[in-house]
Amino acid sequence: MELLFLGTGTSQGVPMIEWKCDGLDLNNPKNWRGRSCAHLLIDGQHVQIDAGPEFRLACIRDRVPAVDHFFLTHEHSDHILGMEDLRRYCAINGGNAIPVYSTESGVARVKTLFDYGIRERSDDGYIALNPLVMGKQLRLPAGTLVESVILPHGKSISTLGLVFTEQTSGKRIAYYTDCNAVPDAAVELAKNVDVLVIDGLRPNPHPTHLSVPEAIEAAQKIGAKQTYLIHMTWQIDHDTWSAKLPANVALAYDGLRVCI
Ligand SMILES: [Zn+2]
Ligand SMILES: [Zn+2]
Repeated sequence: MELLFLGTGTSQGVPMIEWKCDGLDLNNPKNWRGRSCAHLLIDGQHVQIDAGPEFRLACIRDRVPAVDHFFLTHEHSDHILGMEDLRRYCAINGGNAIPVYSTESGVARVKTLFDYGIRERSDDGYIALNPLVMGKQLRLPAGTLVESVILPHGKSISTLGLVFTEQTSGKRIAYYTDCNAVPDAAVELAKNVDVLVIDGLRPNPHPTHLSVPEAIEAAQKIGAKQTYLIHMTWQIDHDTWSAKLPANVALAYDGLRVCI
């Protein structure tokens, strides 16, 4: 299985207005972060998790050749707005719709934003999407098991936490972005995963995200063998924070590939 971090930031991943940001070394390419999304090559299938505004550019940079299945963790703009660029992957897939799994509200937003693309096939170059509400478990055609759990993301929205198990290797990866807590059910579902990818927004608490210390605590509860933090703001300088993290916790960065 290969995990490719296409984006690891938030909308404040690189400071947009506050150019005087103490401690962030903009000469370090690892501090240039697009909105968080990831690509999994698992059991020979291409699985895309979220697509923010830089999705297309990241796919070009990192040469993503296909998307067979799409998982939308939640409907915030920084995770959904790049979905229009799935159109090329529909085209190379013979025009067939890409299955899109999300929460009920995620599916509703996909249907609103991309109403022209909700159809079985595309023969005009625009997208074709098949939005589906994600259940507790899903078995992909190649045998991959996908399990889900709801994570709180502030008071008004929930995020789909996802755990993927590769059939051929038995390896497991959990993807827990955009959450301000990891409930017991989510700890249990991800228990002892090979790789945990988790929201680690900034040093201090936030009402809708985990701080870095909270993310580390959750990773320890889960017992993840290796953890990667994502969705960082400009407050997290890559080199400064990498030196402070526990041995099995690392900051992800755009373009990082991990073989699991
Ligand atoms: Zn969000
Ligand atoms: Zn987000």
